[in-house]
Amino acid sequence: MSSFNGDDFKGLRITQLDDDDEEQAPVEPINVDEFDDDDDDDEDDEEEPVILGFVESPKFPWSSLRQLFPNLAGGVPAWLDPVNLPSGKSILCDLCEEPLQFVLQLYAPLTDKESAFHRTLFLFMCPSMSCLLRDQHEQWKRAPEKPMRSVKVFRCQLPRVNPFYSSEAPKHDGTDQPLGPGAPLCTWCGTWKGDKVCGGCKTARYCSPKHQALHWHRAHKIECQQLRTVLETSDSVDNGVTLTQVQKAASKSLWKEFVLINEDESEYDTEMSETDEVAQPMVVSKREVDDQMKSVMKDFEGDADKNSWVNFQQRVDKAPEQVVRYCRSSEAKPLWPMASGRVSKSEVPNCKSCGGPRCFEFQAMPQLLFFFGGSNERESLDWATIVVYTCENSCDSSLSYNEEFVWVQVYSQTT
Ligand SMILES: [Zn+2]
Ligand SMILES: [Zn+2]
Ligand SMILES: [Zn+2]
Ligand SMILES: [Zn+2]
Repeated sequence: MSSFNGDDFKGLRITQLDDDDEEQAPVEPINVDEFDDDDDDDEDDEEEPVILGFVESPKFPWSSLRQLFPNLAGGVPAWLDPVNLPSGKSILCDLCEEPLQFVLQLYAPLTDKESAFHRTLFLFMCPSMSCLLRDQHEQWKRAPEKPMRSVKVFRCQLPRVNPFYSSEAPKHDGTDQPLGPGAPLCTWCGTWKGDKVCGGCKTARYCSPKHQALHWHRAHKIECQQLRTVLETSDSVDNGVTLTQVQKAASKSLWKEFVLINEDESEYDTEMSETDEVAQPMVVSKREVDDQMKSVMKDFEGDADKNSWVNFQQRVDKAPEQVVRYCRSSEAKPLWPMASGRVSKSEVPNCKSCGGPRCFEFQAMPQLLFFFGGSNERESLDWATIVVYTCENSCDSSLSYNEEFVWVQVYSQTT
């Protein structure tokens, strides 16, 4: 079987790599606790194998292109369906109504489902901590009519034969091309569909009036004038794309761009004891991560939270730079940093599209904020973990991007 991405996040199928000689035998899904009804609070149940995600700077300029089905964090998304993007209110933080910022995407195809031959999950959030705290508060209202969220996740899937990509696996040599162009994107955020065009230059495009206003004040006021002059003096009518192709986004406030690589957590069980810390891909020092973790400890008062934190910490210490933990299985459970503020599986709302149950698929770890270059401002964004649950059937629907369910634990729950 060909490898489309070479670094897929796949529940229990760890055997995709063509070029891997020391391939392991396929691991069958193991139903560890079939008789365990109590689905959320035992720390020491049998565990499902977890795939860890780590950030890395993109190796090539083309590493993050959509036709390579990349795993990304920060920067702008590489939309899988590049045409039918999320739109309307779904792209906004429901609390402040600013367009959401791209956090990460995971390429997680399902080999046993033809319509999910390609499958990518996209996580977005509002960078405002006060919105996250309100989101956190809102999520406790069970089954609200209209959920108010500052964190959203979308699932997109395509069959092998589709209008956007070749059915052959990409060569990963810089020559791969998609079958056609995608929808024009917002000049400011480079993230969402740019369906509003600047009336002045008719060139810059925006996802929202907010991003048009931001761009106008930061740069476009002058740029627009220049563009108009150029356009008036040239005969060319073909002016639609010049601006958007120069750079991915005009905004300087996007998070730093990375690709995500993955490794089985089990690899770290032995490595750590034999080689201590050298086996880790060190980008920031372990101490730096530890210090931040320990400073968080002080805030915990309850013993349950402390125990949960110690368990969390020990597990994460095996590979302290992990930013993603992936395990798609109905038996899988997230690794909760805190005892309080968890959601149990029965409380996760069913899929809006098919009505079926959702299961845990991945969690984003707070270490990601280090790599994004989080500031120490009082209001700066921070989370303990972001847990994503997706439709267990990964159902097909008329929408290209289906919103799935996110649960967030934040440290400061007293506010
Ligand atoms: Zn917001
Ligand atoms: Zn925008
Ligand atoms: Zn303009
Ligand atoms: Zn569904």
